[in-house]
Amino acid sequence: MTKKGLQLEPISSWMHTDRPIIISGPCSAETEEQMVATAKQVAASGKVHAIRAGIWKPRTRPGQYEGAGEEGLKWLISAKKETGLPVTTEVANAAHVEACLKAGVDILWVGARTTVNPFSVQEVADALKGVDIPVMVKNPINPDVELWLGALERLNKAGITKLAAIHRGFSSFEKGPFRNAPMWDLAIELKTRVPELDMICDPSHIAGNRDLISFVSQKALDLDMAGLMIESHINPDAAWSDAKQQVTPSVLAKIISELVVRTPSTDNKTFKDTLSILREQIDQLDDEIMSKLAARMKISEKIGQYKKENNVTILQVNRWEEIVHTRIALCRAMGLNEEFTNDLLRLIHHESIQVQTKVMNKVTERV
Ligand code: PEP
Ligand code: MN
Repeated sequence: MTKKGLQLEPISSWMHTDRPIIISGPCSAETEEQMVATAKQVAASGKVHAIRAGIWKPRTRPGQYEGAGEEGLKWLISAKKETGLPVTTEVANAAHVEACLKAGVDILWVGARTTVNPFSVQEVADALKGVDIPVMVKNPINPDVELWLGALERLNKAGITKLAAIHRGFSSFEKGPFRNAPMWDLAIELKTRVPELDMICDPSHIAGNRDLISFVSQKALDLDMAGLMIESHINPDAAWSDAKQQVTPSVLAKIISELVVRTPSTDNKTFKDTLSILREQIDQLDDEIMSKLAARMKISEKIGQYKKENNVTILQVNRWEEIVHTRIALCRAMGLNEEFTNDLLRLIHHESIQVQTKVMNKVTERV
């Protein structure tokens, strides 16, 4: 049992393979031919452990392809028979669950648009009571680790122990290079809170385009994720959903073969010794950084007191601008990343204001 009370079976035990576990197949099952041909070509690489396909598609706008429905389940089962690989699809309600169980789908996943809704997740969990089937839970579209964990807990409470999380990135108004911002920190946060929980990365929905899939996949493996779910299609440009991000089975095989699989630890003595020396240096530097920060805050407090006595405001915009300007120039010269410097300065400045607000107004709460 974990601190959060999750009872889990490791993914390698229910996928019957070592990491990295690779799941691939089309975004949507479109026709039996497309489904079976994609699955066969993907399986031929010998590098894929399960076949995916969306049967019921949650589309942002009406009028887009919403999936083949129950008819498509038959195609998915044909793909299973042809390849001998387990198959997985997305379920969003009790009817989907029942249809999948009846058809013989091996693994289910809860999509990002469902994880956000506790009513839907509970409905899926209730429909799975007493059923021994693996379920993977995508992160909710909004960056909320609690909601992601909550969905996993609901399924676990229903008796599902073969659970994994899928990191597929988060929706945001600002459009960066990714379709869904990876916000790796959130995935790391969930892994830190529930270390026994295996996590799969879905680079296709993070990237939104083919070119970034390798990069995101490698990064996920380097963050010790258990595997990848990558969308593939025999004719990606003609796909009925998510055309830009799907790859051909041969591109998929190339992406997988180029991945560098690193281990989270090694028994090599030289490596361990060198790492511990470097870590000691990091520990020492962290001590210094923390004590310097504490000293800086003490001075801030004094300044706050002084400003109070002289009836001067906490914030002087010119001074703040000067700090940002000079420090960024300094950090740049030292080879530090500008965005990082900016974030760090903002955090320090925010804390300084907190400290001075406390001095000025004798508040006890953080504001
Ligand atoms: C999908 O996997 O095709 C899908 C709909 O994903 P998500 O729930 O991550 O949007
Ligand atoms: Mn998709």
